[in-house]
Amino acid sequence: MHKIIYDITKFSALDYEHHLSAVLWFAGCNMRCPYCHNSDIVFAKNNINKNELFTFLKSRVGKLEAIVLSGGECTLYKDLPILAKDIKELGFKVKIDTNGTNPNIIKKMVDKNLIDFISLDFKAPKEKYTAITSHKDFSLFLESLIYLIKKEQNFEVRTTVHTDILDENDINTIIKELHHLNFKGTYYIQNYVHQDKILGNLQEQTKIIDKSKIITNLINIEFRNF
Ligand code: SF4
Repeated sequence: MHKIIYDITKFSALDYEHHLSAVLWFAGCNMRCPYCHNSDIVFAKNNINKNELFTFLKSRVGKLEAIVLSGGECTLYKDLPILAKDIKELGFKVKIDTNGTNPNIIKKMVDKNLIDFISLDFKAPKEKYTAITSHKDFSLFLESLIYLIKKEQNFEVRTTVHTDILDENDINTIIKELHHLNFKGTYYIQNYVHQDKILGNLQEQTKIIDKSKIITNLINIEFRNF
């Protein structure tokens, strides 16, 4: 493994629900979401090498329950399954945060039981996907989503909403799609929280979505940061 990790959050009670975890922030991303809070990570030159990483991980055995692989986009790294296997062999659970654009890595890891939980970003409906993310191929995300549903993998789906780029109709389109695909997990609708330093030039929202216009009776829905 080359240097691929930008930084480590050594303790988190938030990034893997009901688990005490550490978060590995993988450098680089194949998207350019305008609301991204992690521009330092998206453009990062790599930082932490394997020896440093495993010295840290071994020091947390028995103290943390899980390691979260986040970023950036962790699935850009072809050796992610090997890393996840090494982490699990130390006794940790593994969660990944992903935009779903690398279904082959996701399938490989799920098939080998290397992932305990996944947070999958459903960035936008197909019609807006490329405009919002700069990623050209919605079908790769869809392939990951369908695979995880069919495998009955333990995962959540989430969308960050800034009302300059997504509205209630867009969210309802996503909900209908998830329902159509027989998604049984929880769909999190996350209200954008403004920071000064983001990837695009979005300003603070002038309005938030109207929750009364969101279809809530098709799938399990939770609202975050509202
Ligand atoms: S928010 Fe978008 S650009 Fe930022 S790390 Fe996630 S997928 Fe990449």
